Amino acid sequence: MTPAVSFQKVSRHFGAVRAVDAVDLDIRPGEFFAMLGPSGSGKTTCLRLIAGFEQPTGGHIEIFGESAGGVPPYRRNVNTVFQDYALFPHLNVIDNVAYGLMVKGVGKAERRQSAEEALKLVQLPGYGARRPGQLSGGQRQRVALARALVNKPKVLLLDEPLGALDLKLRENMQEELKSLQKALGITFVFVTHDQGEALSMADRVAVFNDGHVMQIGTPEEIYQRPASRFVADFVGSSNVLPPDFVQRYSGQRRWGSLRPEAIRIQRATGGDGVSARIVSTSYLGATTRVVLDAGGLRLNATVPSGADLPPAGEPVVLTFNREHLHVMEGEA
Ligand code: ATP
Repeated sequence: MTPAVSFQKVSRHFGAVRAVDAVDLDIRPGEFFAMLGPSGSGKTTCLRLIAGFEQPTGGHIEIFGESAGGVPPYRRNVNTVFQDYALFPHLNVIDNVAYGLMVKGVGKAERRQSAEEALKLVQLPGYGARRPGQLSGGQRQRVALARALVNKPKVLLLDEPLGALDLKLRENMQEELKSLQKALGITFVFVTHDQGEALSMADRVAVFNDGHVMQIGTPEEIYQRPASRFVADFVGSSNVLPPDFVQRYSGQRRWGSLRPEAIRIQRATGGDGVSARIVSTSYLGATTRVVLDAGGLRLNATVPSGADLPPAGEPVVLTFNREHLHVMEGEA
């Protein structure tokens, strides 16, 4: 299958800054693809390379099998939803949404109808006459989405589109974006530094660090089987385990990872397990996070709230299923 977007050894250097460095990735048609990574890791630059706002300093980009080299942004069949929405404050909602069609020379009646359809898609019918300043943050976000969708792009690029919304609205919009994407079948490329958002929304996730792709996989693969210490650490609050610890339980002298929810805490009764002490507990609602000290090794555990925990300082024994201990292949 021809990828929607293909990066072949793509680099974008700004002088000495290697914003994107020899990145290979294929984004499948119709896929919800997340680019996840810390600030400055190169995600936005990758998005801008797909959009055509940046040109690679090395490598090759294809969009649906065609070379993107020399193709200007407006001829790429790709639209971007920016983090700050970039709406025109002096235009009403309908004219904001219809703007791209006007630039393409579509007639007034037709672009009005298309804009109204797009507003229906994002559940804002009847808001056409308002100015952006008369909308809530969430509504502005929907207008920005409608403005991109009205052009019927084959690929929609979203740069932290939910970053400005409060938690509840963010969660609602995550659900809505996901179902909209499935209903329309458009390829979504979504940039975020929020691992929860990437894991819950994406079909596949690329984890970025320092201009490099560290791992590409389904949310489950990335979460359960991180390829490196960086990925284990960044995606969720995994425990990164040193080789001597891993060797005791797996026989392999390699770095490993263990998810906080895989650890069980028991009062010390002399049974098998890792001897530790509780350093602190934090109540998080449904779960409680427990920080543990296992002979100098700091471990995080997540247990259901209400579990019977001894007080901080008391000796405890930690157990886990061996299959939950993930051994990192590349990290000796
Ligand atoms: P964030 O989550 O903060 O948006 P990001 O992962 O999207 O970060 P990029 O915006 O792609 O990161 O930036 C990657 C690196 O490239 C950063 O070090 C940034 O300072 C640098 N960079 C980006 N654009 C330019 C530019 N036009 N000139 C010089 N350096 C740049």
